[in-house]
Amino acid sequence: MLDSFGRDITYMRISVTELCNLRCRYCMPEDGVCKKSHEEMLTEDEIITAVEAAASLGIRKLRITGGEPLVKKNIISICRRAARVDGIREVCLTTNGTLLPELAKPLREAGVGRVNISLDTLDPDKYRYISRCGELSQAIDGIRAALDAGFEKVKLNAVLIGGFNDDEIPALAELTRRYPLDMRFIELMPMYDSGDFAPEAFIPYTAVTERLPELEPVCPDGGVAKLFRLPGALGNIGLISPVSAHFCRDCNRIRLTADGKIKPCLHSGDEYSLKGLDYDGMAAELRSAILCKPSWHGVLDAENRSRAGRNMNQIGG
Ligand code: SAM
Ligand code: SF4
Repeated sequence: MLDSFGRDITYMRISVTELCNLRCRYCMPEDGVCKKSHEEMLTEDEIITAVEAAASLGIRKLRITGGEPLVKKNIISICRRAARVDGIREVCLTTNGTLLPELAKPLREAGVGRVNISLDTLDPDKYRYISRCGELSQAIDGIRAALDAGFEKVKLNAVLIGGFNDDEIPALAELTRRYPLDMRFIELMPMYDSGDFAPEAFIPYTAVTERLPELEPVCPDGGVAKLFRLPGALGNIGLISPVSAHFCRDCNRIRLTADGKIKPCLHSGDEYSLKGLDYDGMAAELRSAILCKPSWHGVLDAENRSRAGRNMNQIGG
C-alpha cells in the first residue's frame, strides 16, 4: 500500500518482547525494563492476525526483533506461523546472537531466511561494558551457529560509537574477508532514555569510509545501507546513516511493538493500537497508520533526541 508520500510500504518489523538478556547502554536503561503485564502484550494469535492484516495491505517482508526475540518462549512457533501467512515472502530476524547456538537450526527450519546479529566489538571487556553483562564468546558461538545453519544471509550489526569502537572498524570489517557474512555499521541514534553519550560518540558513517580507503562501492540491494566491499571479501560492508544522512524518502517500513502499537515512524511518538482488535479492526488501524506515516523523522543529533517516547528495546530497532 502507498503512503501519502507515494512510498510503497512492504516491510513490517515486529518486536515480540521488550525483555532482553543483555542491557546495551545505547538501547535500554541499566535497571532494565519496566515489565508490563501479560495482558498488555500481544498474544501469539494476535501477532499472526496482525501479520495477516498487514499482508492484505501489501506487507511482504517481516523482521522479528525485540528486546531479544530469542528469549521469547514461543519464538519458533511465531516465526513458523508468520512465514506461512499468504503474501509474506521473507521472514528475517535480528538478535544479539547469544541464544543462537540452540536456536539457529530450529529458526531456519521454521522459515527464517536471514539473520542479523549485533556485534559492536571483538574485545571481551568492551563487550561486557557496552552490554553491561554479556559474554562475547556467547555471541561469537551464535554467529558460528548461524553460519552453520544455512541461512540465506548472515549480517553483523555494529553500532558506531566514537571513542568506543571506531578503533575496531578495520578489525570488524576484516570479518567479511574471513567469513561469508556482511558487516554493517549503524550510526548511534540518541534515544529517549538510553545512555548519556557525549557528543563525540555520535560519529557519522563516513568514519568508516575514511578508515577503509580500499572500500569499493557495490550496487544497492534495495535496503537502507550504502554498500561497499573490501577487495577479495566474501561479504559486503553496509553503512546505515539514520542521523547524518537520513533515508526517510525511501522508507518502506512500519513497526509493530510487543504491546501492540503500530509506529509508522521509528522516531515519532505517533502510535496506533492493535491490541484486542480482530482482523478487520487491525487492517483499518494499519491503513490509518500507513496513511499518517510522516515524510521524515526530523532533526536527530546529540541535542535533538528521538521523539519515539520509548527506548529501542521497546521498539525493535
Ligand atoms: N536484541 C536484538 C539485537 O540486539 O540485535 C534485537 C533488538 S535491538 C533493539 C535491534 C538493533 O537496534 C540492534 O542492532 C541494536 O544494535 C540497534 N540499536 C539499539 N539501540 C540503538 C541506538 N541507540 N542507535 C543505533 N542502533 C541501536
Ligand atoms: Fe538487548 Fe538488543 Fe537492546 Fe542490546 S540492543 S539491550 S541485545 S535489545
